[in-house]
Amino acid sequence: MFKSYERYGDPYKLVEFRILSLNDCSMDCKGCFYERNKNNFNDFSSALNLAKELKNNDYELETCYLLPTDMFDNKDNYNLFNNSDFAEMISMFEYTGVASTLENNFDEEFYKILKNNNKDSKIELQVNLLIAKLFDINYQIILKTRIQKIKEKYGDDVIINLAINTGLNLTEKEKDKLKQLLEFLSDDKIIELNFTFLYNSNINEEKKRSMMIESVKTIHDMMKHYKKDDEKFYNDRTLLRKPAFTFVGEPNRIYLTPIVPFDEYVFLDDQKFIVKQPSYSSFFETYLNLDNINSPILEKCNDCDNLTYCMGKGYFTIANQMNLGCYLDIK
Ligand code: SF4
Repeated sequence: MFKSYERYGDPYKLVEFRILSLNDCSMDCKGCFYERNKNNFNDFSSALNLAKELKNNDYELETCYLLPTDMFDNKDNYNLFNNSDFAEMISMFEYTGVASTLENNFDEEFYKILKNNNKDSKIELQVNLLIAKLFDINYQIILKTRIQKIKEKYGDDVIINLAINTGLNLTEKEKDKLKQLLEFLSDDKIIELNFTFLYNSNINEEKKRSMMIESVKTIHDMMKHYKKDDEKFYNDRTLLRKPAFTFVGEPNRIYLTPIVPFDEYVFLDDQKFIVKQPSYSSFFETYLNLDNINSPILEKCNDCDNLTYCMGKGYFTIANQMNLGCYLDIK
């Protein structure tokens, strides 16, 4: 979240893919609820087809995230590039997004594989901060050193975001430390939030709802830190301008993911969000079906200054699905 739009340009007609095909991670990060051996999306010919159709309809393919686990912790992850459809799809995106704790440092082999596939590809590296080590001074120093070295070595070829897992109740001490680390480790002071619990089929809907509420509290808290007084509160990113597709297996499915303001894509495992065919028309059909149920949830929405943001991002589909009410009332 809190991506720097200045960096990417106008968020008009940009696309993100999130491909869940990585498994066997040994990192065991606090707050990670990903199922680490059930990520089996493998229909890369469909993913490639959707990428081509979006491109033909003037969407710019911005980032394809390879998820959900630490890319550098398992070299088998790199075998994905042996699949020609996967390799072609990745080569169409400006950035390949990967997550890592950097506990195993940045792996140059991955960089080489990506560059061999397409010399213009860049990496968006999401560095997952280890909440359990937030107060460990050695951890902070090692992380800073590794991040600096990556910046020196790869320049603009690797952009770095910091990230944490949400859904947990963070203590005031932890929040303060996170804000300090953002100052210390991040150029743009932004942080991505991982809603890992949404992908776990063993967590029931009620529990997901309560974890979502904790996540929205974290969004509010971090947003206060990020926002400058003279900036408007929300950006113009909408579900149509910057759609994000999540690809999960088994069976292989493609989901359109609505957005909770400020700017987090929310994966909801429900038929309504499925894009039935890997085509532009099917994306549009899902979008229109969602639009029909994306109605204001409360009387006060009709007079609210944020109405266009909430509608454009498809927030009401999330609020209806999870019984959330207005996210501004979640404190
Ligand atoms: S959900 Fe809240 S912020 Fe959004 S339009 Fe309604 S009252 Fe406004």
